Amino acid sequence: MHRISKGAALLAPVLILVLAVSVLLAASSPALAARKKAKPGAGQGVSKGAGAQLLCPAEAGLGEPFVVRVRSSKAFSSATVSFLKRSAPLEVRRVAGEGGKAPVIWEAVALVGTDVLGTATGQKEILVRLGKGRTLRAVIHIRRVKRPTESLDLSPEMVNPPASELPRIAAERAQAQAVLAMTSPKLLFRLPFTRPVPGELSSMYGIGRVLNGQPRAPHRGLDLEAEVGQPVVAAADGRVVLVGDFYYAGRCIYVDHGQGVFSMYFHLSEQRVENGQKVSAGAVIGLAGATGRSTRSHLHFGVSTLGRLVDPAPLFGYDALP
Ligand SMILES: [Zn+2]
Repeated sequence: MHRISKGAALLAPVLILVLAVSVLLAASSPALAARKKAKPGAGQGVSKGAGAQLLCPAEAGLGEPFVVRVRSSKAFSSATVSFLKRSAPLEVRRVAGEGGKAPVIWEAVALVGTDVLGTATGQKEILVRLGKGRTLRAVIHIRRVKRPTESLDLSPEMVNPPASELPRIAAERAQAQAVLAMTSPKLLFRLPFTRPVPGELSSMYGIGRVLNGQPRAPHRGLDLEAEVGQPVVAAADGRVVLVGDFYYAGRCIYVDHGQGVFSMYFHLSEQRVENGQKVSAGAVIGLAGATGRSTRSHLHFGVSTLGRLVDPAPLFGYDALP
């Protein structure tokens, strides 16, 4: 959730390795390739029934987000997606069929994914309930993704927070979890996401962390290079739901994009939005910094779908969501 480093000199080779590995992973990721070519019904996990189709990729890597789409020639007034014991209501839209002549189709789209922490690989079921009666099911294979491990030697107080801070840390974690568990039915975001800062990736999602020889939770966001005071923009349209100053995250902003999708911006030097404020993709919401548990200025950018912290990186290149 945060970047900790003991010095640029030591970190530089690690960063180069991380970047090289992340480029390789991106180039060789079958899920990414599949997503780029993804056409409804073409080699995907398709579930049909009662004039409706549920479309999702046949597989995705652990930690990767993916799009689930339900289409029906019969009208449905509501839809709910369920994945890994979490659910969210979906916005139902009427869209014209292909070629203009085809009949109107009802559609709902969800962005879901798995968390590198706490999710097992293997076959996972996705359910979409339409209205009161129809339920569509699809199965996605979640495969293991090889990700590197980063070992850092830090001063002990950087690795283990003082006991006096533990209640504060627990309260902040509970506050963040409560926010990320919210589900508002309106789909506010579009894909691809806007990059919140232009800086290079300095630590990828899912990288294993060993601090002073102790294995720690993997990194569940992206660290992007950013100078103190550099503008940070919203990745997508949404509504600000948390403006905090947390022990780990420092000055932070959480934006709700609807349907259980949130983006998070950590270690800011300044917040330029208020709780409840609507934001547009690309609008400045704060300035980058090194607040919280961070030894150098950068932006930690996180994305949560149905309460799972997923890899934000694919969302910058994902096909546009209509
Ligand atoms: Zn980070």
